[in-house]
Amino acid sequence: MAADLDVALAYAEQHLPDTIESLKTLARIPSVSANPAPDPELRRSAEAVAAWMTRVGLEHVAVLELEGVHPYIYGDWLHAPGAPTVILYAHHDVQPPGRPEFWKSPPFEPEERDGRLYGRGTVDDKAGIAVQLAAIESYLENGGLPINVRVVIDGEEEAGSENLVTFLETYRSQLDADLIVITDTANLAAGVPTITYALRGLVVVDVEVSAIDHPLHSGMWGGPVPDAALAMSKVLAKLTDADGKIAVPGIQDQVRPLSELERQRVKALPFDEAQFRSDVGLLDGVGLAGESDFSPFELMWYRPALTISALEAAPLEGASNQILASSRARIGIRTVPDMDAEKTAQLLRDYLEQDPPWNVRVETKTYVTAGWWMTSPEGAAFEATARALEQGFGATCVYICCGGSIPFVEPFSEALGGVPALLIGVEDPICNAHSENESLLLSDFVKAVKSAVHLYVELSKPAS
Ligand SMILES: [Zn+2]
Repeated sequence: MAADLDVALAYAEQHLPDTIESLKTLARIPSVSANPAPDPELRRSAEAVAAWMTRVGLEHVAVLELEGVHPYIYGDWLHAPGAPTVILYAHHDVQPPGRPEFWKSPPFEPEERDGRLYGRGTVDDKAGIAVQLAAIESYLENGGLPINVRVVIDGEEEAGSENLVTFLETYRSQLDADLIVITDTANLAAGVPTITYALRGLVVVDVEVSAIDHPLHSGMWGGPVPDAALAMSKVLAKLTDADGKIAVPGIQDQVRPLSELERQRVKALPFDEAQFRSDVGLLDGVGLAGESDFSPFELMWYRPALTISALEAAPLEGASNQILASSRARIGIRTVPDMDAEKTAQLLRDYLEQDPPWNVRVETKTYVTAGWWMTSPEGAAFEATARALEQGFGATCVYICCGGSIPFVEPFSEALGGVPALLIGVEDPICNAHSENESLLLSDFVKAVKSAVHLYVELSKPAS
């Protein structure tokens, strides 16, 4: 017999301090999936998640191992006959902490300040785990859940969920479901519950430019000898036009134009440029980049974007008067419908290698290819989720896209026969996910937990 909604809500509220303590315990473990597998910290993190899952009453809890893969965790509760089965997804791995000197408190020592919980992983995505486990506990401690749940916690999301296909093949029999709920996305603003219905994909290519087989004295040899760092700058400079629009031939041809409905949906969302500038920390006088005929939301959600995420030649510290021999860079392109990830990577590589200055050697390598995902935010599951979020947040739900990527979504939904995937989360615009001083807004966390409690009831109702 499922617990009463009000009893579950009261329980979740009353046990919130314990939930936050459990979240802090997870956030103390540096589960950085950029480290090669196996990594003892990922293992320790997986075991901590499994212990929490067992504590809230989930069954068949197991750390799922695949060789050379950061561990996933699974647990289920399947005692609601006739009710839908929902996969609840989140991830326990985190981004590297970045520059230590920029953190106001150490990244793996979670600290509450001004209504926020600071620390790597506090919001992305250990909060996603906490939201669902708190809601599950509030029912299982009081009789049972109104739906069947299978909790799947990824251990390699921040590394591109590269082994997901193998994972799906190995554990497919444990993953039958009617619906996937992913708690890992952002809300449009603090206090505004948000459903995400599209994600950009990601293509990452590494490039190395070399000109000479060892560095040379720039005074003795400078002039006739090509400079690898300068050659790299020229190679990178041709990738976009003056506005920042991607200039790699063949890329723009693949981009699906926005439909009238999509334009209207974006237009309906509030946008405040001053707030946007402040949220991203834009310095005074610095302008916005990107094609001028698209709004910032359109640029982040419906247009491809190119970023250079690493650039190496020689560190300034200890630099001498040298002509550098080689330079390396990592280039990411966020992809949108209908771009093909493999084709995009190839187009980028071909263009990087084409006509190098002074015929320097240019070598490229594809590092990541992950597809975009887009659905139409309509139907019973979306309506149920919107109702749950509105009850939990006490505010109207909005629908947005996300410029980021969750490589898990598209293949997982496909493997289950195209079931709906619902993307919700607790990130607010200033949570600094992936950057220093990552934090969770605790007032939104409470609302997200309440929403999850409502969600299970809403999803158990037959579609009207
Ligand atoms: Zn995440």
